[in-house]
Amino acid sequence: MTDTDVSITADELTQFVAALFRHTGTASTTAAMVAAHLVEANLKGHDSHGVGMIPAYLRNISAGLLQQNATTKVIRDNGAVVMLDGQMGFGQRVGKEATEFAIERVRETGIVCLGLRNAHHLGRIGTYGEQCAAAGLISTHYVNVVGHSPSVAPYGGREPRMVTNPFCAVVPRDDGPPIILDMATSAIALGKVRVAHHKGQPVPEGALIDHEGAPTTNPAVLFAEPKGSLGPFGGHKGYGLAVICELLGGALAGEWTAQPAHPTTKNGTQNVDHNIVNNMLVFILDPAATGNSQGFQEEVEAMVNYLQGCPPAAGHDRVRVPGEPERESLAQRQRTGIPIDQSSWSSICRAALKADFPQGAIPQP
Ligand code: NAD
Repeated sequence: MTDTDVSITADELTQFVAALFRHTGTASTTAAMVAAHLVEANLKGHDSHGVGMIPAYLRNISAGLLQQNATTKVIRDNGAVVMLDGQMGFGQRVGKEATEFAIERVRETGIVCLGLRNAHHLGRIGTYGEQCAAAGLISTHYVNVVGHSPSVAPYGGREPRMVTNPFCAVVPRDDGPPIILDMATSAIALGKVRVAHHKGQPVPEGALIDHEGAPTTNPAVLFAEPKGSLGPFGGHKGYGLAVICELLGGALAGEWTAQPAHPTTKNGTQNVDHNIVNNMLVFILDPAATGNSQGFQEEVEAMVNYLQGCPPAAGHDRVRVPGEPERESLAQRQRTGIPIDQSSWSSICRAALKADFPQGAIPQP
């Protein structure tokens, strides 16, 4: 929290966000789902995927790109292979519905490959991994992002060719919180560059290049012409994972990758450059289907303890496993409230007013 942040409780923020989307015509159960998802992203420390997305969502609703009440449609159901179309509905709803569908199916088949195409922004992919883990299931999620111009350069390149293609993998635990690896394959999430830009802060070294391919820490290079690019995390290896997300989430589940034969988004006869579309391929496995659930769980516990027991290196307080930082943030922000930088809060309020939401119903944190 800095001097220029506002602070708001999760409850107040959730009620405001749900009321705002109801006001624009979203059914109340969907509005509640979207609000809960966005606020949980803030609680878990991912401000890039929290309520800061509201102006973009409102803009896409008014442009007719985000279909507020669309649900998933089955386009192929082959038992263990299920392909669904999100029909440009709220990702928070169609993503949850698709995952519920696959979880139910995996009880019969032991393993499911789920494809979901044409979801408006799915938000924090870990949400769907957590849904699988809560059902005792293992999952891996490969996601691409289309509907607007690319922002991430391939390893060795100096022009953007993909977006931030998130990857998620989840291991459930009987006696502890799940292991949740949930990450952008770019050096940092695009939304984190947006938040840094709003705050007037530099981004970490190694994350951005300018339009000539030179390294920079200035987030403005993504928001002004001539535009620079984000780089992949972890050099050629992170780039490789981003390519796999593009090909499995994009080419297979979505039949829509970032290559230029596709328009960014068709809106009537016009091409627009501000849609946010996710395509996702998910593999879900019931560990019981291997016949070795108990041995698996014992081994997971022993390994997690071994990792967490590693002495910390200089500059670190202790060793964590993936998913722990989010739980720590959740516990802290539930106690202290959610900090939102002033610039992001102002743009949320401006967008709400532009959607004719009553000024008196906007919280005054
Ligand atoms: P991040 O770098 O903060 O964390 C990535 C992973 O590393 C997490 O699983 C986290 O638990 C783990 N981690 C972090 N610090 C750790 C530590 N000290 N020890 C052990 N594990 C640690 O996440 P990110 O790459 O900035 O991604 C943020 C969010 O953005 C994710 O939820 C992702 O799904 C989302 N995202 C969504 C889209 C989309 O199009 N919908 C695109 C990109 C990213």
